[in-house]
Amino acid sequence: MTLIFDLHAHSNISDGLLSPAELVAHAAMHGVGVLALTDHDDVSGLQAARVAAVKHNIQLVDGVEISVTWKKRTLHIVGLKVNPENVALKAALLEVRLARDLRAQQMGESLAKAGIAHAYEGAKAIAKQSIITRVHFARFLVENGYAKDTKTVFKKYLVKGKPGFVDHQWMDLAQAVTLITDSGGSAVIAHPGRYELGSVNMLELLSAFRSYGGVAIEVVTGSHTPPQYQQFAKLAHQFSLKSSLGSDYHGKGISFMEMGRLPALPSNCVPVWQDWPELALHEANALS
Ligand code: AMP
Ligand code: MN
Ligand code: MN
Ligand code: MN
Repeated sequence: MTLIFDLHAHSNISDGLLSPAELVAHAAMHGVGVLALTDHDDVSGLQAARVAAVKHNIQLVDGVEISVTWKKRTLHIVGLKVNPENVALKAALLEVRLARDLRAQQMGESLAKAGIAHAYEGAKAIAKQSIITRVHFARFLVENGYAKDTKTVFKKYLVKGKPGFVDHQWMDLAQAVTLITDSGGSAVIAHPGRYELGSVNMLELLSAFRSYGGVAIEVVTGSHTPPQYQQFAKLAHQFSLKSSLGSDYHGKGISFMEMGRLPALPSNCVPVWQDWPELALHEANALS
């Protein structure tokens, strides 16, 4: 039996729809054997996910997805096997979340100027205790009839040049990679195909990322096309980086991809989990 990996997924601790325990159950139902919970800028869902993972016989990988600013662009760095109790990591993520809230207030003010009142309060009510992301604004705007679905609402309101977009200075790339690495984790560039960097900047990014201690890039992810799997497999090989695989599942209606549906990594990739000893044990249990 092949073990199905999904090393990128969100719960309602960030912008996903399911609670951490529900997400784990969902993953199990879709045949996933190794799941990383990678909420944006927050590791507080991992404990509940771990309890559920034992119940569903899933191997849980402690993860996080950190927003960074690199050359004036927003990139996402996934941390796998981070230590959620690491003091430096927890402190840095708390700072990011506080800045996120100010950004959300600015987004609300900007939308108010465009004639949409109370968007911050609306997004906050949807987010409940979690961080406020553009997904929460998207849900507020769709629920109030400003657009028909998530895809449309992003295009119309939430991307650069639109009223709900606020330029934000996220964490430094080097700092994110260092925080992840120092907490015992592996840093992975999330969905590199989504950044529209151009080849020169992409090469510069991969080189910088590696020099800071980054170890892998997502080759197979919900937002990549099959030609992009090949493109990034080649780049991973060129930069001696390992490869990761994850759906980036957020929940029905706001995801690129359902869980357990992605193809395996291309055969020339070195999987990021290649030297994870606990997986051998998990596989042995699954067979017994
Ligand atoms: P934020 O970190 O607040 O800027 O929110 C970014 C999140 O919005 C991403 O993690 C995705 O979940 C979601 N997102 C970004 N762009 C789109 C899009 N075009 N369509 C749907 N969801 C998107
Ligand atoms: Mn997201
Ligand atoms: Mn992302
Ligand atoms: Mn994600």
